[in-house]
This record gives sequence, structure tokens and C-alpha cells, in this order.
Amino acid sequence: MTSNITPVPHEPAEGESDCEHVLTHLYEYLDSEMTEADEHRMRAHVAHCSPCLAELSLEELVKKLVKRSCAEQAPETLRLRIREQITVMTVVD
Ligand SMILES: [Zn+2]
Repeated sequence: MTSNITPVPHEPAEGESDCEHVLTHLYEYLDSEMTEADEHRMRAHVAHCSPCLAELSLEELVKKLVKRSCAEQAPETLRLRIREQITVMTVVD
């Protein structure tokens, strides 16, 4: 482990769905800042939930593009464009 961040296990929140869990902790997942158990829960969920998978793919792409362009944040137009593309991809059943 080269990361100096200690992942904190997620407390199962009352009434929190797996979808909410994924959306809430998207960035921790992308930055590999979660415990193995939480990461597993996340993966297991997106494997069969296409809206969450789309959201995860979107943020992953944005993150990559932002890193490449050295920008602090992705412009909203870029985000929208990627989202459109992902929507088109995931429409295919
Ligand atoms: Zn979901």
C-alpha cells in the first residue's frame, strides 16, 4: 500500500440502499480509499445495477480526463457529454 489513507469501514446507515451506498462513496471507491469489505459490496452491487454502473463509469472517465488536463474540476459540459455517451451505451440491453 502506497496510500497513507486509512480506509474507514462504512457504518450501514439506516434505510440506506445499495444504490445510495454506491453514490455516496463513489469517490472513495475511485481513489481506493475504502476497506476491502466495502469495496466488495460496491462491486457486487454495480455488477447488477446498471444506473450505478453508469454513474461509476462516468465519474471514472471524468476523473481520468481531469487528471490528464490538469484541471481542478471537469467542466459541466464535459460531464454532460460523457453522460450522454454512457446513456447511449447502457441503453443496449
Ligand atoms: Zn444501484
